[in-house]
Amino acid sequence: MHKQNIKNLSIKEISLIIEELGEKRHRKTQLLKWLYQKRVNSFHDMTNVPLDLRKKFDKLFSISALHSTKVIVSSEDNSTKFLLECEDKLLIETVLMKFKKHQTICISSQVGCSLGCTFCRTGKNGLERNLRSDEILNQVIFFKNKYIPPRKRYNIVFMGMGEPFLNSDNVFRAIEILNDLDAFALGEKRITVSTIGFPDKIIEAAKSDLKFRLAVSLNATTNSIRKKIMPGSKNISDTLSAAQKFAELKGTRTTLEYVLIKGVNDSDEDAKRLAKLTSGKPFKINLIPFNTWDGCKFSRPDEERMGKFIELLLPRAPAVTVRRSRGSDIGAACGQLSYQKGSTTDKL
Ligand code: SAH
Ligand code: SF4
Repeated sequence: MHKQNIKNLSIKEISLIIEELGEKRHRKTQLLKWLYQKRVNSFHDMTNVPLDLRKKFDKLFSISALHSTKVIVSSEDNSTKFLLECEDKLLIETVLMKFKKHQTICISSQVGCSLGCTFCRTGKNGLERNLRSDEILNQVIFFKNKYIPPRKRYNIVFMGMGEPFLNSDNVFRAIEILNDLDAFALGEKRITVSTIGFPDKIIEAAKSDLKFRLAVSLNATTNSIRKKIMPGSKNISDTLSAAQKFAELKGTRTTLEYVLIKGVNDSDEDAKRLAKLTSGKPFKINLIPFNTWDGCKFSRPDEERMGKFIELLLPRAPAVTVRRSRGSDIGAACGQLSYQKGSTTDKL
């Protein structure tokens, strides 16, 4: 009999199975704690679960894990890129960034991406496949097991490979587990999902009980430029209305990411339009100086241009921050992640 991968089950599905097996409700809590807090890889290690139930679980389910095939440490800052291998040998790129008081894990939602943004390395090779919920959770488990000391604060950002909202079933199921108090117990402030912005999906998430912060990659102030550099994007006003609705329903602010690309979206007019689009709205603007990669035709504006852009933006826009991406020397900065089909990992 084919065993079901237990980390792909939602909390509701786990509860249902426990009920169907005629077990008491607290077995669900025990199971979640073993899987996601103690992070065991075998049902036999679940020592406070009766032996015959452990055997039943073992007959019905498997427990998956991810292992790294390559670790690349940045010489410039405290970031490290990890390539994690799936059963089908595809590689998931993840990045660990160490800060004084916390660590941030940048995880992927897909292998590759179908949206083809012209400035993004991930978009260049297209989509290989969606990641399953267990593969999303196992990225976090990999870091928890090896690199994050117990009780150390850590944040998760869905800013690795892929578009989370094009794999929303699996991403949402994983976030439910990340939020759950018996599992990872991560609240809204600790998880950020970055998307190019699918208004329907944003509203769906806003109305759900899922706890996470939203970041929308805006990257342009006119629909024509946005469509040119982000062919898969929707129009700006629908995207921003949904981003605003998310902030209002969740009682937070939505971050708008804006990659500054020389001669494309960094003019004085862009800065003024960006201020106008966001003024008085529940947004935070995060400017990301473009990170280059081999074969890309774009470049980063010089410091003077970025300075002028910020100067024009600041007086009217909501909070503005500049993200100095980490790990650019190891191809781990925003937009530099890629998968290479059939290649050896040494090429990366
Ligand atoms: N698909 C999602 C999440 C992954 S990309 C999204 O696009 O939001 C994470 C962030 O990296 C996005 O804000 C994206 O605009 C940015 N990015 C992509 N390529 C980049 C590059 N070359 N330099 C800087 N940031 C980049
Ligand atoms: Fe995909 Fe995001 Fe890259 Fe665009 S920026 S290609 S949506 S990963």
